[in-house]
Amino acid sequence: AKNLGRNRYAFYTSELTADAHQRMALENELRHALERDEFTLVYQPKLNLKNGQLDGVEALVRWEHPQRGLVGPEQFIALAEETGLIVELGRYILDSACAQLGAWLHQGFAPMRLAVNISGAQLRDKHLLKNIEQVLERYQIPPCYLELEITEDFVMDHQRESVTLLQQFRQLGIHLSIDDFGTGYSSMAYLKELPLDTLKIDRSFVSGLPGAQDAAITQSIIVLAHNLGMSVVAEGVERQEQKILLEQQGCDVVQGYLISRPLPASQFAKSFLRHSA
Ligand code: C2E
Ligand code: CA
Ligand code: CA
Ligand code: CA
Repeated sequence: AKNLGRNRYAFYTSELTADAHQRMALENELRHALERDEFTLVYQPKLNLKNGQLDGVEALVRWEHPQRGLVGPEQFIALAEETGLIVELGRYILDSACAQLGAWLHQGFAPMRLAVNISGAQLRDKHLLKNIEQVLERYQIPPCYLELEITEDFVMDHQRESVTLLQQFRQLGIHLSIDDFGTGYSSMAYLKELPLDTLKIDRSFVSGLPGAQDAAITQSIIVLAHNLGMSVVAEGVERQEQKILLEQQGCDVVQGYLISRPLPASQFAKSFLRHSA
């Protein structure tokens, strides 16, 4: 048993070291990727169930890695947050997303709302508000066409400051959504304090539809949001039966592979944007 213990210890140590090396390597690569402009955005439409029209679009980041190919955010956002690189990466994302929206508006496409994910570490950046104002100004985007998707954990960790900051965004006319709703810590207490426009139901509940338990959860979230004056988006809708149920439950907007996968900008414009009359 002693032997086994020692082996196990050795095993864990080498694993840990390998892990730490991998993290350092990835951190370095992330820095270089920013310098070399290896990040790109894809765009996923949101469908308004009330009128069948495009309700808006969410920008999602991808890393075009020279060796590994297209890398998803699940592989690097957490590390970018821990190392603080998210601030620079987030600025880049916000700038490119708004540049793209500005270009679409300039090309005469009917205006629509563009949602950008903002992580907790970004919200703690003192310059975020000013930075967003500058970007909107730079690309001549009315603030009502920008939506920020924030997650529950930030809100719970920074109750006081977050209320003030979110109120400032709101005063500018920016649309605010709470992302991954239902997966964080307690979700009720702050709903009444925060100036939120939209609540996004997390995919983990939608994927269980039309199962009775998840249906009870989505129905409750929809009623809750509506009673608080918010609209509801269901994310991760993959099957027709899920969309139909959500529609019956009064959900306002759906997003997911059933409507479309996230697409490169040109493909998104071709498939979903219409010229304004
Ligand atoms: P999220 O904000 O909840 O975004 C939804 C994720 O679900 C996206 O994954 C999207 O591609 C995926 N998805 C959409 N529809 C479906 C569906 O029908 N089925 C399934 N299985 N998946 C679907 P993605 O792009 O890999 O992003 C993962 C997470 O990474 C995002 O979750 C978000 O938290 C974060 N993220 C993505 N882009 C950014 C960004 O630009 N900035 C920041 N801070 N975080 C980002
Ligand atoms: Ca999101
Ligand atoms: Ca999210
Ligand atoms: Ca989610």
